[in-house]
Amino acid sequence: MALAQAAADEARAAGEVPVGAVLVRGDEVIATGFNHPIGAHDPSAHAEMVALRAAAQVAQNYRLPGCELYVTLEPCLMCAGAIMHARIARVVFGARDPKTGACGSVVDAFANPQLNHHTEVTGGVLESECGAALKSFFAERRRASREARAAARAGVGAQSKPGEPL
Ligand SMILES: [Zn+2]
Repeated sequence: MALAQAAADEARAAGEVPVGAVLVRGDEVIATGFNHPIGAHDPSAHAEMVALRAAAQVAQNYRLPGCELYVTLEPCLMCAGAIMHARIARVVFGARDPKTGACGSVVDAFANPQLNHHTEVTGGVLESECGAALKSFFAERRRASREARAAARAGVGAQSKPGEPL
């Protein structure tokens, strides 16, 4: 999970919502991924998807049996689907996601017996640490947008004096 947290820091450095994922088989790290849908212009560029894609390339196989995925935030429905298609044995996630979590928070994709692959899910690992990284990111973003609005208001004030160079 510490490696997933480091990947989340990479997302944050890129200005993206800080979520990181690591795919391991036993003690071996196969791939890591960080969330970057904005920079990649790709709605599927979630940390889990990036790690799954990279791991499948390494394995030269779209199925990754016996692998475990560690991710700092509860996977969404898209990622849960990809995790099932890849036959991941176990998912370990950090913070719960009350808005899009598909491991019990909003829906529980893995509890549906009609979906034929059964991935073991463990949630809430380093939950407060993983959640704190997200909370501080959003707090920082709200602060920056407040400052931008204040600067815009100040700019409007300056422009309201006709004839003066800005
Ligand atoms: Zn996702």
